[in-house]
Amino acid sequence: MSQNRKSADSLEDLYADTLHYHVNTGGETIHAKRMPGRFRNLKWLTMSTWLAFFIGPYLQWGDHQAILFDIPGRKFHLFGATIWPQDIWMLSLLLILLAITLFGVTAVAGRVFCGYFCFQTVWTDVFTWIEDKIEGNAIQRRRLDKAAWSADKIRKKTLKHSLWLLVSILTGITFAAYFTDAFELWNGYLTFSAPYIAWVVLALFIAGTYILAGFMREQVCFWLCPYARIQSVMVDKDSILPTYDYHRGEPRGKVKSKSSDAATKGDCIDCKMCVGVCPTGVDIREGLSEGCITCGLCIDACDSIMDKVGKPKGLIRYLSHKEMDGVTLPPVFKRPRVITYSTIFMLAVTGIIYGLATIPPVELSIVHSRQPLFMRMSDGSIQNKYTIKAVNKLETDQRVSLTVKSSSGDVHMVKEAYFKDITLKAGKMVPFSIFLQATPASLEHENTDVQLTIQGITQPDITVTYDSVFVGPKK
Ligand code: SF4
Ligand code: SF4
Repeated sequence: MSQNRKSADSLEDLYADTLHYHVNTGGETIHAKRMPGRFRNLKWLTMSTWLAFFIGPYLQWGDHQAILFDIPGRKFHLFGATIWPQDIWMLSLLLILLAITLFGVTAVAGRVFCGYFCFQTVWTDVFTWIEDKIEGNAIQRRRLDKAAWSADKIRKKTLKHSLWLLVSILTGITFAAYFTDAFELWNGYLTFSAPYIAWVVLALFIAGTYILAGFMREQVCFWLCPYARIQSVMVDKDSILPTYDYHRGEPRGKVKSKSSDAATKGDCIDCKMCVGVCPTGVDIREGLSEGCITCGLCIDACDSIMDKVGKPKGLIRYLSHKEMDGVTLPPVFKRPRVITYSTIFMLAVTGIIYGLATIPPVELSIVHSRQPLFMRMSDGSIQNKYTIKAVNKLETDQRVSLTVKSSSGDVHMVKEAYFKDITLKAGKMVPFSIFLQATPASLEHENTDVQLTIQGITQPDITVTYDSVFVGPKK
């Protein structure tokens, strides 16, 4: 009896505390209550993977940054691999892979990416954590916002915005550091000698982080993020989402200490704690909402309430629509969507692995000059011109030879001896022209197949061939 009385008293306190919790309509700042729980811990864990973002630019691999998007040099360093513009198809596969992963995860478990990994929600969570530490809990923050300006309010707001700016600055510098030498960049910023573009990138990132995570917060999820709009076509009745069990919860109603109608009510005591902790201000009890980022924080909140009222946890839980209607779900791997997404995913992964494993150290592209297709020289021989681009993707200079072989005729290279030993500078593309000649009598056809080969001298295992054609007069 005393236990029941205690529960009722604490619930009355709870109802008093949650008077302000209501569904977000976008007209005011949401001050979500922060509560401990399983999903809160999971969120911290997944958010911590973003620490890799801050560490990434400072890792070294050989004599350069492990991850460096070298835009002026037109190449990307990803640990040991150097990706050139010629290998950009792998980037397309990577984008397909990321998109399919997102689609697949959404089909199975809704917007878990949004709830646990998205930079917008992660940075917003860090910003609101700072806010909570400085300004107090949700009720105190709401009161502080409404209070007249005082020394205490100015102190708290100044400290909060200073820390927000610090996080924004670190975010901006870290992002910029992926595109240039990280240590030189820090030096440039600290000595005010960084190039103009580095300052522009930093300013954009500081402004973006500060405004989006500090002020716009959940409004980005509601109004700017296209993913929220298309999620409805990616989830289906099999998707497992944080769901309010209305069979169990309804009819909802407040619990009173001398309640006589407790037996006729559902398990939801209408405390609105699930709304109060929701970072996007959604009422999960109203069904699937495009504002729900499936973070599961309302599950933690409701579980703590169920504990208080002595009812089983799980009034809000990860559940599919079908499961709610009593249907048992087939295994995930038997669902057509999952099979389709998995197949595309595996194809993309295979393509990327194949691409990384077979990036040629030296690449050759050859364009046969078409104007004119051939020239007749004063000694009667036929000459064709070719423009060659040879790319040395390695980190060291490479001595190579260039030779030609024809399917018929006496096709040979002009100044052949010169091309027997040429140097391709490390990490550079070398453009040059060559001329091939043949006597008309030796040519059996108008077009003769030719094969140009670059053979490594520094590294004899380098062999790159390119098929082209030698054009002569009509036969
Ligand atoms: S669903 Fe749970 S947390 Fe939400 S109002 Fe009902 S009892 Fe409270
Ligand atoms: S409704 Fe629940 S799961 Fe959805 S965003 Fe709000 S707290 Fe997270």
